[in-house]
Amino acid sequence: MIWYALSLMSTATVPPPFAQAATKLDVSLKDRGNLFEIASRQIERAMKLINIDPDIAQILGQPKNELIVNFPVRRDNGKIEMLKGYRVQHNNILGPYKGGMRYHHEANLDEMKALASWMTYKSALHEIPFGGGKGGVKFDPRQYSRAELERITRRFTAALGSNIGPDFDIPAPDVNTNSQTMVWMMDTYMNIVGAMDRNTVRGVVTGKSVSAGGSHGRAEATGQGVVHCITEWAKDRNFNLDGCHVIIQGFGNVGSYAARLLSQKGAVVIGVGDVGGYIANTEGINAHKLGEHVHRTGSVSGYKGASKITREEFFGLDAHIFVPAALELEIGVAEAKALKVKMVVEGANGPTYPEAEEVLIDRGIDLIPDILCNSGGVIVSYYEWLQNKRAEQWELADVLGRLERRMKQTYANVRQYAIAQKTDWRTASYAIGLERLQHCYKERGIFP
Ligand code: NAD
Repeated sequence: MIWYALSLMSTATVPPPFAQAATKLDVSLKDRGNLFEIASRQIERAMKLINIDPDIAQILGQPKNELIVNFPVRRDNGKIEMLKGYRVQHNNILGPYKGGMRYHHEANLDEMKALASWMTYKSALHEIPFGGGKGGVKFDPRQYSRAELERITRRFTAALGSNIGPDFDIPAPDVNTNSQTMVWMMDTYMNIVGAMDRNTVRGVVTGKSVSAGGSHGRAEATGQGVVHCITEWAKDRNFNLDGCHVIIQGFGNVGSYAARLLSQKGAVVIGVGDVGGYIANTEGINAHKLGEHVHRTGSVSGYKGASKITREEFFGLDAHIFVPAALELEIGVAEAKALKVKMVVEGANGPTYPEAEEVLIDRGIDLIPDILCNSGGVIVSYYEWLQNKRAEQWELADVLGRLERRMKQTYANVRQYAIAQKTDWRTASYAIGLERLQHCYKERGIFP
C-alpha cells in the first residue's frame, strides 16, 4: 500500500518561542507554544486541500463561545480558595457541543480552544451528531483531598449552570478526571434542574459509572479505539503484532487500557512513562501489575518489574510502536529524531508538533493522527448519550461491536482519502470532517 509522505507548511511564520520549544520539550506546557495556533495551522492545511469557502473557514476559525468562570471553593482547612474554570464551545452545527473536562495546573484558554476545535473535527470525521467543546479547571488535583475534589467539581458545575446540558453541551472525562468526576457533575446538574426534570438530564455528561447511567465499555473505549487502529495498520503493513515492542507515554485511562489490550494481542510493552518518571524492561512490563502499582502509588515510578530510565532514554528505546497518551506537544523535533519505532499512534490529543511530524514522515515512520485513533471515547460517549435518551442499557458486546465497526470504517475512509488526495493522514482526517461541516453550512446558511 502507498503511504504518502508529508510536506507540511513552512515554519517561516512561527514565532521564536515555538521553534525553540520544538527542540526541547521537557518543559512546562506554557513554554511549548500556543496550542490553538498550532491546531489552526494543521487545520488550515486541510482547508486549503478542500478549497474551503472562505466564509466557512472564518466561522470555523474561532470557537462560538469561550467561557471563563471564577468560583470559590472551601478547602479542608476551612479557608476559601478561588479557582478558574473554562468551557470553550467551538461549534455545534452537527449537534450539541461535546468534549472532555480536564483538571490541570497549567490549563489555559488557548489549550481549551485547540482541544474544543479538535472535538468538532473528530465528531464530524466519525459522523457522530455532536459538535466540539472542551473545558476544565486550572489547579493541580494531586494537591487536593477527595472531599475537596468533590466540592471543586460541584462548584464548577454550578458555576457553569445552563451553559451545559444534555442537548446543549455534554462534558466527559479527560486528563485527571474520571467517572467519579462525571457522576458528581451529573448529580449537581440534576439538583439544579430540580425534581421534575432530574431523570431526563442523565445525559448531561458521559463517561459516568455504569451504576449512575454510564455505558458498558466507556472506560476502555479510547484505548480500545487506539488498538483497533493499530490492528488495521498491522493488517495493511503485513506486520505481526505478536511479540512486537511497544512504548507508551502516559499510563492513565488511555495509556493503561491501550497497554492491556495490546498485551492481549501478544505485543510486549517495554517502556512506559508518566508524570512521575520513566521505566523500561526489554523482557516486557506486565500491564495489569503496572496498573495496580499506579493505582496504589499514583505513578509508574518505583515499579519493581522495570528499571528507571530518563525521558531521553525512553524516546530512544528500540521498539515498533509508540503510543503517546499523556499531554499535548510531547513530541518535538528532538523526540521525532530520537524515536526508533515504525509507527506513532496518537492516543493523546495533539502530542506532535507539526515540525516533528515532518521529521517522522521523512524518516518513514507512520503516524495515525489523534482525531482518527483516539475517538473511541467520544464514539462510546455517543452510545452512552443514546442509551440515556432511550432509558436503555446496552450489553458490553453490543457496545464494543459497534465501536469496532465504526473505528474500522473511519480508518478505511481516511486511508482511501489519503491515497486518493495524495496527502498525509492528519490532513485527510481533517478534510473529511471539514467537507461534512462545509456541506452542512452550505445547506443551512447562517441565521438570521
Ligand atoms: P489521565 O489523567 O487518565 O492520564 C494522563 C497520563 O499522562 C497519566 O499517566 C499522567 O501521569 C501522564 N502525564 C501527565 N503529565 C505528564 C508529563 N508531563 N509527562 C509524562 N506523562 C505525563 O488522562 P487520559 O484520559 O488518559 O488522557 C490522556 C490523553 O488522551 C490526553 O491528551 C487526553 O486529552 C486524551 N484523550 C483522552 C480520552 C479519554 O476518553 N479519556 C479520549 C480522547 C483523548
